[in-house]
Amino acid sequence: MGEGSANAEVMFVGEAPGKKEDLTGLPFVGASGKLLDSLLQKAGMERKDVFITSIVKYRPPHNRDPSSAEKAAFLPYLLRQIDIIQPKIIAPLGNHGMESFLPGVKISDIHGQPQSIELDGKQVTIMPLYHPAAALYNARLRQTLVDDFMKVHRLLLHLAN
Ligand code: URA
Repeated sequence: MGEGSANAEVMFVGEAPGKKEDLTGLPFVGASGKLLDSLLQKAGMERKDVFITSIVKYRPPHNRDPSSAEKAAFLPYLLRQIDIIQPKIIAPLGNHGMESFLPGVKISDIHGQPQSIELDGKQVTIMPLYHPAAALYNARLRQTLVDDFMKVHRLLLHLAN
């Protein structure tokens, strides 16, 4: 489960495939995916230039949250994806995607605030973002997501210079 450019400078990490993602084998193609596309577009980024994946690569039964054991089991796959793509920014979408990089913090406390961490001996910037689904349930988060996605693009331009 993962789609995008092998040269992507930003990697988005969601939670787990939903029903539509499970059927198509592509990440973020359902309702959250439509919102993700529009957020990328509003922030001046294109889906084909980024890489999109999730911490858990299979759909948990009945849409339940992925368990800690499932997240731990799939982490090596995510780390390998990061090792191959070498993104400048990893942008977790929601708490499940974030906790492997920043354990013990909540997305509501640090969304939109870049964090520098060491991963496999290399510094990488983590930009925590709300999961797009959060804005499907809470319309007030939509503008926060737009603002945070714009910060991702600005940070990317800054890191390139
Ligand atoms: N939510 C996710 O976290 N990932 C998807 O691919 C779809 C919905």
